[in-house]
Amino acid sequence: MKQTLAEIVSIGDEILYGQTLDTNSHWISGALDQIGIKVIRKTTVPDIETEILTGLKEAESRADVILITGGLGPTKDDLTKPLLARYFGVDLMMNEDALNDIEQLFTKANRKMTELNRMQAELPANCDKITNQLGTAPGMWFNERGKIFVSMPGVPYEMKRMMTDFIIPRLQEELVNYYVVHQMIMTIGIPESSLAEKISVWEEGLPKHIKLAYLPTKNTVKLRLTATGPEKAKLEHDIREEVMKLTPLIQKYIFGYDEGNIELFIGKMLKEANKTIACAESCTGGFLSHLITSIPGSSAYFKGAVIAYSNEVKHEILNVETQTLEKYGAVSEEVVLQMAKNVREKLNADIGLSISGVAGPDGGTEEKPVGLIWFGYSDKEKTIAKKYNFSKDRILNIEFGARKALDLLRINLSEK
Ligand code: AMP
Ligand code: MG
Repeated sequence: MKQTLAEIVSIGDEILYGQTLDTNSHWISGALDQIGIKVIRKTTVPDIETEILTGLKEAESRADVILITGGLGPTKDDLTKPLLARYFGVDLMMNEDALNDIEQLFTKANRKMTELNRMQAELPANCDKITNQLGTAPGMWFNERGKIFVSMPGVPYEMKRMMTDFIIPRLQEELVNYYVVHQMIMTIGIPESSLAEKISVWEEGLPKHIKLAYLPTKNTVKLRLTATGPEKAKLEHDIREEVMKLTPLIQKYIFGYDEGNIELFIGKMLKEANKTIACAESCTGGFLSHLITSIPGSSAYFKGAVIAYSNEVKHEILNVETQTLEKYGAVSEEVVLQMAKNVREKLNADIGLSISGVAGPDGGTEEKPVGLIWFGYSDKEKTIAKKYNFSKDRILNIEFGARKALDLLRINLSEK
């Protein structure tokens, strides 16, 4: 049994001019993935006859299902319908059912129908009409030469409604059942290449029906396992087995098995542990607190923060000793230790987190280069500090730094 292959053909000059973002193919890909159909190609063609015909021909040569959007408007620039008739060697015919749909739409809206709207009910003789609940252009379904062709309007909400109400159910009915099961493994604190090294033996031993993808963003790398085959329960079982083999190899970097960011995961951990947190931020200027509070319900565990950007605030509000600031400088182990402990006590939290670093682009020295960030962690039992070197880019340093602080929090919480 073979997996069904699909190609999405988007038609419209506006997409190629860069005026309209092709959100249709993005959405359709996701919908097809959920029913086990593999999208092998997306093609975008302009509103030009020869390009559309070539696009269709090539798609037909590659895929079992060809999903087309765009070019169905009533005006002359929209060419899809007559071209599909030509492509299949049939005539356009008035589809009474489609005409009825359009008439009803106009009656409901209390608007007068034009001849152009009437012509929208003319469809290639070999297609099944797909009702458009939200607009005047009907969709079309073709079973030709052992393949399925579907033509839909470009307007995203009209297309989605047709897909959901009619096309997806019919694809599931007409095609053999085939399944795709995805499993995410969320990691943080290790670059993609080091991760790949640690799991290479396991990766090589993966069965043929399971594929692995590395999807890095910022300081997290998402590993995605994808299993495909005709028996869903077997796929789920096989994926579970592989996750069980993989986990011990990279345990300390894994923060979750569901789609979601580190701040979401940290929130769950703090709630489960029934702990509260307070932050003292220097170089991240509040970004750490922003990440934490972007999670709904964070008031259950986030006490508050002090943005101690200047030495004055570090001293006056957080009671960091002036001598310490003078002797070691604001970006130092000694200072983040005091910041973490004092913010915890001052804000009456279980845990204190602190950050102080050189965000750049200026202010670096040989001893303390741009990208050097010190982190402090403090709870009732211990107060510790760690340093990391990030990049020369100010914004990246802020973003990576804040997420690294959350990673340190994760590590300390999971030790408990
Ligand atoms: P059409 O069916 O070609 O008349 O398209 C109608 C409108 O739908 C266009 O003016 C675009 O704004 C929008 N549209 C067409 N194709 C796409 C696409 N692939 N993704 C998102 N919007 C689209
Ligand atoms: Mg168009």
